[in-house]
Amino acid sequence: MAVNISEQDIQKIIQSVLQNVEAVKSQDLNHQNDRLNHHTSAPKPIQMKRVLPSSAEINHADLKPHLNTLHVEGVFDEMDDAIESGYLAQVNYVKQFQLKDREKIISAIRETVIVNKEKLARMVFEETKLGRYEDKIAKHELVASKTPGTEDITTAAFSGDEGLTIVEQAPFGLVGAVTPVTNPTETIINNSIGLLAAGNAVVFNVHPSSKASCAFVVNLINKAVQEVGGPANLVTMVKEPTLQTLERLIENPKVKLLVGTGGPGMVKTLLKSGKKAIGAGAGNPPVIVDETADLKNAAKSIITGASFDNNLLCIAEKELFVIDSVADDLIFHMLNEGAYMLDQQQLSQLMSFALEENVHHEARGCSLNNKREYHVTKQWVGKDAASFLRQLGIESEENIRLLICEVDFDHPFVQLEQMMPVFPIVRVKNLDEAIEMALLAEHGNRHTAIMHSKNVDHLTKFARAIETTIFVKNASSLAGVGFGGEGHTTMTIAGPTGEGITSAKTFTRQRRCVLAEGGFRIIG
Ligand code: NAD
Repeated sequence: MAVNISEQDIQKIIQSVLQNVEAVKSQDLNHQNDRLNHHTSAPKPIQMKRVLPSSAEINHADLKPHLNTLHVEGVFDEMDDAIESGYLAQVNYVKQFQLKDREKIISAIRETVIVNKEKLARMVFEETKLGRYEDKIAKHELVASKTPGTEDITTAAFSGDEGLTIVEQAPFGLVGAVTPVTNPTETIINNSIGLLAAGNAVVFNVHPSSKASCAFVVNLINKAVQEVGGPANLVTMVKEPTLQTLERLIENPKVKLLVGTGGPGMVKTLLKSGKKAIGAGAGNPPVIVDETADLKNAAKSIITGASFDNNLLCIAEKELFVIDSVADDLIFHMLNEGAYMLDQQQLSQLMSFALEENVHHEARGCSLNNKREYHVTKQWVGKDAASFLRQLGIESEENIRLLICEVDFDHPFVQLEQMMPVFPIVRVKNLDEAIEMALLAEHGNRHTAIMHSKNVDHLTKFARAIETTIFVKNASSLAGVGFGGEGHTTMTIAGPTGEGITSAKTFTRQRRCVLAEGGFRIIG
């Protein structure tokens, strides 16, 4: 028999389910705290106030099929509660759970992300209004399948006449992590797998513009962990993240390690904390194409990398230096591969809405010198090529993914990490000029660089000069994070602090344990 339920009825049902879940949750928490006290001599945990996302933050369409299974875990009103819960969870985790349990927990996280990848991609896309839905599905798939787990944690051993020494990779304990708006849930998943594999628990202070999607994935992860018998609150976050909540996270003595993924301001803040900090900062990856390159492959690879998620990724190709003698052919192939060339008038028009300009008047001798500074216009970051074309009044097919333009070296699109599918091309005389310009455009971030060439000497020369954490040859930048390239993936490329392509072992402390021969050895 079919039953008709009105929208009003559905709202009522959702509210009542949320209230019931809240009640069940606090009972569960008491229960878990009792169990924890029973198993360990840890001090009695304080009663935590759990919060559910407000109904405004919940996509009711999403909830309808999940009314029976809704559990919201790991999201707290107060940063101090998120920290205290994470701290107690980690104590329990290392005392009560073995390495094989960690692996079981990680498999459950991978599985839940794969099952929910479309929903996560849609939530992030709708909340942040950045990037491309289908590319976000691919990113979720990538972090779920290619983030290393416990296999990354190894023990080194030395044995000989004087006994046995082992060096273990031990957890830090509770870790504080900061995530960017460009890969919000993907970074939570990637960091959580690595941190949990290493025996840590984690508290996130997420980018405020992605807090609802982040709360959703934190809940998913916690549910998956508990479904296979793991402890509650291994992954927590504060519901309303701010710079003040970040300050509390940084200052709390129970937080032993900080992991930050985002721009330079955030990395600087973490590095000033006096704690061990892993900082993954900004990039502005240059790509060089020389006269020996396979131009068709170069064109295709550049379009793939530069247009993926509308150029949001920190590793994405952001500006091209091409040797003049092959520039026309490369552009021909890029157009064949579906790029759209902006003429100079269209480019100026596009700059007028996609960039903000500040003019500073500086006294120079007897005259005034006008210095222009450009910033990206926030609402155009991560938008589709088709949206730019529409704004320019150009009728286009929706499948154009990348706009290209010919510019000089000092053009703001070369100098800024613009994170838009608008790709600047600079013609250069020779390889030396290309390398010189690429180094300047990369601004010393030492993040990512890409080159297309069949000349090993050219590749080596650029790689040695630019010294980036990721250097990709003859492929799209995505290969640098294991997407169409060998090796594991990460969403946290720690250039400034040197850990590079982070994984579980990055989040460990080295601990030496020595068993000497002792009384059995006779000296003299
Ligand atoms: P963002 O720097 O604006 O924000 C990142 C995080 O830091 C957010 O959680 C934000 O709330 C917080 N934050 C911002 N300013 C801060 C400050 N002054 N002090 C403390 N915290 C602060 O960056 P975003 O727009 O979210 O992300 C894009 C940036 O992140 C780009 O520069 C990109 O290159 C970089 N990124 C780097 C990596 C990497 O692995 N190296 C990965 C993804 C993104």
